[in-house]
Amino acid sequence: MLNKTVHPRPSCADDFDAESISVDAARQRILDRTSPVSDTETLRLRDALNRVLARDVVSGIDVPGHTNSAMDGYALAGAGLPDKTPRTYEVVGAAYAGHPYRGHCSKCQCVRIMTGAAMPAGTDTVVMQEHVEKLGDKTIQIPAGQRQHQNVRLAGEDIRKGSAVLHAGRRLIAADLGVIASLGIGEITVYRKPRIAFFSTGDELRPVGKPLDDGDIYDSNRYSLFGMLSQLDVDILDLGIVRDTRQAIREAFRTASDQADIVITSGGVSVGEADFVKQSVTETGEIHIWKIAMKPGRPLAFGRVGNAAFFGLPGNPVSVMTTFYQFVLPAIQRRSGQADVRPLTIRVRCIADLRKRPGRFEFQRGILSFDDTGQLTVGVTGRQGSGILTSMSRANCLILLDDNCGGVNEGDYVTVQPLNLFL
Ligand code: AMP
Ligand code: MG
Repeated sequence: MLNKTVHPRPSCADDFDAESISVDAARQRILDRTSPVSDTETLRLRDALNRVLARDVVSGIDVPGHTNSAMDGYALAGAGLPDKTPRTYEVVGAAYAGHPYRGHCSKCQCVRIMTGAAMPAGTDTVVMQEHVEKLGDKTIQIPAGQRQHQNVRLAGEDIRKGSAVLHAGRRLIAADLGVIASLGIGEITVYRKPRIAFFSTGDELRPVGKPLDDGDIYDSNRYSLFGMLSQLDVDILDLGIVRDTRQAIREAFRTASDQADIVITSGGVSVGEADFVKQSVTETGEIHIWKIAMKPGRPLAFGRVGNAAFFGLPGNPVSVMTTFYQFVLPAIQRRSGQADVRPLTIRVRCIADLRKRPGRFEFQRGILSFDDTGQLTVGVTGRQGSGILTSMSRANCLILLDDNCGGVNEGDYVTVQPLNLFL
């Protein structure tokens, strides 16, 4: 029981629980026990989008490989540029991208040059064609006011030969494929995709397409889990609904842990309910059931079953999704080899009063939208009960209200975690 002289927080006695741990502490404990898969595979560059690099990508060349022109114009030696009155130059040749001028350019000479063409020997400056006056076929006049070295891209200014351009642990985005291709590299080594198995527990659950008996409900959690997992680069194994019997649960855990890196269940981890789940997991692994000071999603089981990590998520549909985003997602990212697994959060102005009591971290379902002035703002989806799954449907972000927060007034700034942006 809570001793009020030790915890003098009567206003939040309902929501404060001395035995529960914080969201951050739980996430940290999980990450501390999660390491990347050890297997890697070598893929063609195009197949590696969204995958996580297992080794640094080191450049074997300078990019750009040669000093070249950033403009269409005339290449010349910048030391001789005119100070006050225009100067005449002889045009001795032309340089195009892929077709360099092979001769030397001396003091009063210049070379017609196009963007991307290598700078000819003897030149270090490009004058834009718009600034040049053509006096004849082979003669131009350059005005004062130009600067030495202008409009030139230096060899290696983007990437130096021998430097690590992308580091192991990076999830590859479109630009990375371009960067790697610019080095001439066509194959790279990435971590293999983790395999994630999941099933639902609960005798009240029926699969879609079947009639409901009295007191039954449809199993929706496997569908939201499937949706969230499908947006990640993982292999998915859906083991269906598992009856609440020792035999069925043990069997499901064996199949799951034989084949998967991470096993996720939903339901059956509330106090007094976890028996079969708990027994089956501890037969081949270990389990911790934490009360987490958060709403929704208070009970969470985490541990190991066989060689797989185990997450026992609460049964409530909204809790499944919030605990997935806070705990399972970072663990999957870490298991995938991803180095940085912090969720993206932003501060935005709240356009509603939010009710909250101090004591627990709360994840309210929010809607980010633009106001009349183009500023990003956030409102709430309405009823916030942990069974109101439509609130997750309407939401495009979670509003993060920390333990101590005692409510938000319209106009206050709040932290939000955008959803569906987490790759
Ligand atoms: P539990 O954590 O098993 O006590 O479940 C909490 C609530 O979530 C109960 O109302 C369950 O009926 C509901 N629930 C459990 N599993 C599912 C599921 N797979 N789909 C939808 N609701 C569920
Ligand atoms: Mg249950």
